[in-house]
Amino acid sequence: MSSNKRFTKDFTLQEPICDEGIEKALEILKSGKLHRYNVDPGEQGETALLEEEFAAYMGKKYCLACASCGSAMYLALKSAGVRPGDKVLCNAYTLAPVPGAIENAGAAIELVDIIDDYTIDLTDLETKAAAPDTKYFMLSHMRGHITNMDRLMEICHAHGLVLIEDCAHTMGAFWDKKKSGSFGKAACFSTQTYKHMNSGEGGLLVTDDPDLIAQSIIYSGSYMLYERHTARPDMDVFESLKTQVPNYSCRMDNLRAALLRPQLKRLDIQCDRWNKRYLTLEQGLNKIKGITCPPRNPKENYVGSSIQFSLVNQDEETIQTFLGGCLDQGVELKWFGNKEPVGFTSAYSSWKYFGELPYLHNTRRILAVMCDMRIPLTFTLDDCKFIIKIIADVAKTVLK
Ligand SMILES: *Cc1c(COP(=O)(O)O)cnc(C)c1O
Repeated sequence: MSSNKRFTKDFTLQEPICDEGIEKALEILKSGKLHRYNVDPGEQGETALLEEEFAAYMGKKYCLACASCGSAMYLALKSAGVRPGDKVLCNAYTLAPVPGAIENAGAAIELVDIIDDYTIDLTDLETKAAAPDTKYFMLSHMRGHITNMDRLMEICHAHGLVLIEDCAHTMGAFWDKKKSGSFGKAACFSTQTYKHMNSGEGGLLVTDDPDLIAQSIIYSGSYMLYERHTARPDMDVFESLKTQVPNYSCRMDNLRAALLRPQLKRLDIQCDRWNKRYLTLEQGLNKIKGITCPPRNPKENYVGSSIQFSLVNQDEETIQTFLGGCLDQGVELKWFGNKEPVGFTSAYSSWKYFGELPYLHNTRRILAVMCDMRIPLTFTLDDCKFIIKIIADVAKTVLK
């Protein structure tokens, strides 16, 4: 009987903001003091507190809260020294804000291929890193897939690459007990609604580099009030920079920070909850003929807030029929192989503003059959089992 029932839950519905966050937000609204620098002498605003707490969570010295992860990435690139015309390496499987941040910094993107487990092709990286004019590398842990970071760091060190990590999907994740986002010179996180903490919009930048964070703080629009930051280096670091670095106005405000602080306390618990759902889905999907979830490296301690799988050897028409069949039953899957950019499934072929980009055979082949599903925490484990049943039924009739 249940196979005739549709799945009716919403794939984009997050859990509500917790009471502690709502109460604090109301307090701030009543005070009118939403701007991060609108604090009394000696008072630490919510934004400064969030920065301290996130730096501590990450085991990093410094943190800056920004308007978005995209703006954090842009500030990180600028503060790391990227100048117009510089080349920035980036894995070709990522989301539009990543190439957007590179373009915003005036840089040229050099795409690096991916391999069948959706992570960056380290052989291609090594070849491209060897070019004498290549110094910067934006690594996007896209959809939470973490490459072999030991090997990746060897390549960065051997070729003097400055690494910036895009951790929009790896907040709370590890590679071999070391936090994702603690490998590079800087790392950027998103607190946009569909990521691991939700403030509507928002980004966090962490680093141990005093010069980089001082620049980022000034770039973010500190109006010479950087003293009010508490996850920052000594004031003298700002002296030589304060008139050299422009204000790009991409701050976070106290209201968002107030929503995030209690979420940070619960982040690790939430990550476990995601992984329970992920494992249920992964086990189920791997039992379905025609569907493959590539094995993940045991050292990769990911956060399963979404799941990807490949419909290996299926043609475009079959994939479309499969996706349509699942959608009819209420199961909303995204497809990275779409010719036209739809929703969040942007492929690098839609970044035409960079001009001609190279044809990456493996990336094209892999994205052409890759599907993507969100796993909101509003889904129960039974929901996950129900979804598997629907997908299995559709696969049985549609896939070859
Ligand atoms: C969401 C996302 C970003 C950017 O986050 P915003 O806060 O929306 O700017 C960056 N990279 C990846 C992989 C993302 O999914």
